[in-house]
Amino acid sequence: MIDIPDNFSYKCCGWLFIQYKLLKKSGINIAKECNKSPETIYKWIRKFKFIKNKHPINSTSFKKGHLPWNKNLTKETNEKLKKIGELHKGKTWNLTEETKKRMSISRLNDANGRWRGDKAGYTSIHIWITKNKPKPLDSKCEICRKIKKLELSSKTHEYKRDIDEYQWACRSCHMNYDIKNNLRGKKYDN
Ligand SMILES: [Zn+2]
Repeated sequence: MIDIPDNFSYKCCGWLFIQYKLLKKSGINIAKECNKSPETIYKWIRKFKFIKNKHPINSTSFKKGHLPWNKNLTKETNEKLKKIGELHKGKTWNLTEETKKRMSISRLNDANGRWRGDKAGYTSIHIWITKNKPKPLDSKCEICRKIKKLELSSKTHEYKRDIDEYQWACRSCHMNYDIKNNLRGKKYDN
């Protein structure tokens, strides 16, 4: 199988989630990687409801470290976040609430309690994935076993704390996998 010239991985909710939310890449960088315009990427980021801003490129709401909600949550921070949450009701915080819910579900699968459940930020998921599901050193696609440029994807798009949930696949296998499993273009449904 040959690599497709344009990277259409951004149409995969799971891939985009990993790039944008877990790996904290900017839409602009994702756009470069996919050989697409930032507008296209942000269109999909909005489509998948990662953000709801009308002018995402100028937005600072998701800049790294803007809100330290994902670590060392103290009572004060919680209170602050609650207030901010109220201010932003119906905006970007919807996503956070959604995500928190998803994290809670993930926690049910947790045996050793290291998964911090609804307090888990994307950073901790990212650390966990890096540790438990590192990129194969031989660069072999887990599906076709060919040496390719690999991307991390979620098999069910549920982001479970389970190494079997994630796979390092080449772009074509990832796309075929998503299409076969009817995942492409789908957004989150609770
Ligand atoms: Zn492959």
